[in-house]
Amino acid sequence: MNYLSTRGDATPRKFCDILLEGLAPDGGLYLPDHYPQIDRARLAELRRVYREQGYAALAFEILSLYIDDIPPADLRRLCEKTYTPEVFGTREIVPLKPLQDGFYLEALSNGPTLAFKDMAMQLLGNLFEYELARRGEQLNILGATSGDTGSAAEYAMRGKQGIRVFMLSPHGRMSAFQQAQMFSLQDTNIHNIAIEGVFDDCQDIVKAVSNDLAFKRRYKIGTVNSINWARLLAQVVYYFAGYFQATRNDSEQVDFTVPSGNFGNICAGHVARQMGLPIGQLVVATNENDVLDEFFRTGVYRVRGSADTHETSSPSMDISKASNFERFVFDLLGRDGARTRALFHDALLASGRFDLGADPAFAEARSRYGFVSGKSTHADRLATIRELFQQHGVMIDTHTADGVKVARPHVRAGVPMIVLETALPIKFAATIREALGRDPERPARFNGIEQLPRRVQVMPADAAGVKAFVAENCE
Ligand SMILES: *Cc1c(COP(=O)(O)O)cnc(C)c1O
Repeated sequence: MNYLSTRGDATPRKFCDILLEGLAPDGGLYLPDHYPQIDRARLAELRRVYREQGYAALAFEILSLYIDDIPPADLRRLCEKTYTPEVFGTREIVPLKPLQDGFYLEALSNGPTLAFKDMAMQLLGNLFEYELARRGEQLNILGATSGDTGSAAEYAMRGKQGIRVFMLSPHGRMSAFQQAQMFSLQDTNIHNIAIEGVFDDCQDIVKAVSNDLAFKRRYKIGTVNSINWARLLAQVVYYFAGYFQATRNDSEQVDFTVPSGNFGNICAGHVARQMGLPIGQLVVATNENDVLDEFFRTGVYRVRGSADTHETSSPSMDISKASNFERFVFDLLGRDGARTRALFHDALLASGRFDLGADPAFAEARSRYGFVSGKSTHADRLATIRELFQQHGVMIDTHTADGVKVARPHVRAGVPMIVLETALPIKFAATIREALGRDPERPARFNGIEQLPRRVQVMPADAAGVKAFVAENCE
């Protein structure tokens, strides 16, 4: 399998060539040069693998289709090391929870940081460690987080050979639980930096440091953002696992609804569907930051300015642009790299928007690729959380609530609807209290984490200071 860029650079690259990279050199995103096809017989085989050998074995089968530069025995070992019941809490790893007939939540949030990002990040940590050892190299991951990504990255990279993490977060602005999760890590390769500023300041510092190419090279600076292909690939696996749990035979269809921000999670669903997994609809659920809902309704993709980006109670979906969306548009346009570049580079730079509404390809987003969308608000989240708790005794988090709310009007008779549960309620306690008048459930292993000693450095919003801190800690 070779990888190419969505902006036309077709230099053949292997999986491990792109594993540690962000954007392609031409500014595009990496995609496989084709999607391996799973026919009915193969699907039946994969169903059996999942049932008899478990999630790690299923992950190995899917990943093998895209990775031919890691020896199979090693790749299998990496999958087995990653997806264990000890780390993810159950044998199924991603169990389905039925809410009512044919309407399910798929639990993706039982990993170390209680959000779905663990599903990919835990694998990424093991892949990075493996590949860096093979090359005899080191990597210093520099990132900015408003919560879920940073903690998932830290829990994936803690204690890993050859890797350090420098994670910037806005001082005092994450939820108390999220701060406790990150700052209580005592591993010496994990560095929390709380910046006196907002999330955008953190991101600007990461950009400034990364743009200093000499510094970047000298200190082997890398990232783990959501455009990384390996993260997306890891996420493809749980669409298969969800399908197998919701169906009995391999001709049945299912629909998925995905709480979306950067379009990473649902893009993995698109990949699974392109491989032949019988997915009917892929329902994109957004919050008030409705960049994606606007596109799927109208064909207009419009990047929001910071004044236009809302701080919501489902904060991990508060995006101004959807960084993985270019991958889908590339496929939608028949993999035309020149056109994709004209939209995502030229048009966005010139006017911050493009409009495919009149293009015949736009209608295919729904008719051929199964995409529909909807939007949810703070009031919707509160009502949905309340309703599920009162009627089903199930407590869900704010992002999953956006999913459940948007899924409902798209439910089809006789077709299972699977809503991806992207976090547990404990991470967003304030909104749970607002909805239910009580504290969220807390998994026992997190009792008292707010009281643990903290390892965090508070710094002004200044790139030079961050660089000095990185340099000092790379000795
Ligand atoms: C990151 C995140 C999302 C959004 O996922 P994307 O891949 O960016 O679309 C949704 N919910 C939670 C809880 C998240 O952490």
